[in-house]
Amino acid sequence: MKKAKGIYLIADGLGDRPIKELKNLTPLEYSNTPTMDFLCKEGVTGLIHPYSPGYRVGTDWGHICLFGYNPADHYTGRGAIEAYSAGLEMKKGDIAFRGNLGTVDNSLTVIDRRAGRIKEKEDIKTLIEAIDGYEIDGCKFRVHPLTEHRVAIVMSGDELDWHIIDTDPGTACEGSKIICPIQKEKYQKSAEILWKFLLHVKNIWDKHPINKKREEKGLYKANFIITRGAAAAMVLPPIESIFPKIKVSVIAGDETILGIGKMCNFDYVTDKSFTGGFETNYLGKAQKALEELENHDLVIVHIKGTDLCGHDNNPLKKVEIIEQIDKMYEYWLSKIDKENTYLALAADHSTPCHFKDHSSDPVPAFLYGPHLRVDKSISCGERMVAEGLLNGYTGSQFMRTIVDYLGYTRKYGA
Ligand SMILES: [Zn+2]
Repeated sequence: MKKAKGIYLIADGLGDRPIKELKNLTPLEYSNTPTMDFLCKEGVTGLIHPYSPGYRVGTDWGHICLFGYNPADHYTGRGAIEAYSAGLEMKKGDIAFRGNLGTVDNSLTVIDRRAGRIKEKEDIKTLIEAIDGYEIDGCKFRVHPLTEHRVAIVMSGDELDWHIIDTDPGTACEGSKIICPIQKEKYQKSAEILWKFLLHVKNIWDKHPINKKREEKGLYKANFIITRGAAAAMVLPPIESIFPKIKVSVIAGDETILGIGKMCNFDYVTDKSFTGGFETNYLGKAQKALEELENHDLVIVHIKGTDLCGHDNNPLKKVEIIEQIDKMYEYWLSKIDKENTYLALAADHSTPCHFKDHSSDPVPAFLYGPHLRVDKSISCGERMVAEGLLNGYTGSQFMRTIVDYLGYTRKYGA
């Protein structure tokens, strides 16, 4: 069977609900997207459920679905994904946490949960070097920086139990005390070791020259790591074990997406101009996708801005980003070998602007390319594709469908 190639763009949080100021249309319905309209008209479309109808999912869970897996079989927690993103390998028995560099006073009351959004890379690196690799009771702590004030922590030792509660009192909880994770239960040992480590960090960082300098400048010092999302090591089977011989590459700025891609054994590409923010190098990502297509079968391109606009309730910005995405498809359509290349779109969840969070609304999807049973949809929008052939598919079934057209699925039975 002849193999084909594909580019699959995932617009994070793309799905939305009707918005009054957009004439009761969704941002996607309202946007001017001539190329995506054409791809819907000439392709197959539908509203798909990233995981399952009625379930709200996070970006990590949603992407694991879109990549063809069932997260319920593998997911241990965000901490494990962040650790992977930061380049911290985990083995069975390790525990991972997400962490913030924060500012606390001597009674461990939170003064600023992001240490004034500390972002000086060299300072963060120096602070982390002062505590990375520290051992307590035969248990070793590895700490790596993530974006800005965020870090990943991996704790390795014997008989650790990952059911450790968050020390983080929560968002917008300046003035609350750090939560001591030691509970009088069976998890006590692991929690005690973590607590000793966090107090060690405070002790070292309180008097660190970097923090002396920050105080002199009137900045918050970074003198604590606030932890959350404790997770056991997470292992995803490589993508080739699901779709034999396929070679996948992922292009993203967002570290979580790159981390999940690495777990799936995708190759990955990032660049300083691929920000994972509102402003990213859209055309640069589109060009890079074509380069990656030369030696991969499927290239997945992630755009984060659509989700951020939903969280910020900024529908007009969401429209603007969708129109940038349309230009990416326009570029691809002008360059690809149309006899042998597929273009696809979906989202990991909806992030409706008025809701400012992820909802369970199904997300718009299309697949364009040769040999499709083209359906009746004629433009791109949540309600315009609602009667398409892919309607009601799950994210994992959509991935399977794309890969089937590329020629990398197994046949079940004889
Ligand atoms: Zn997301």
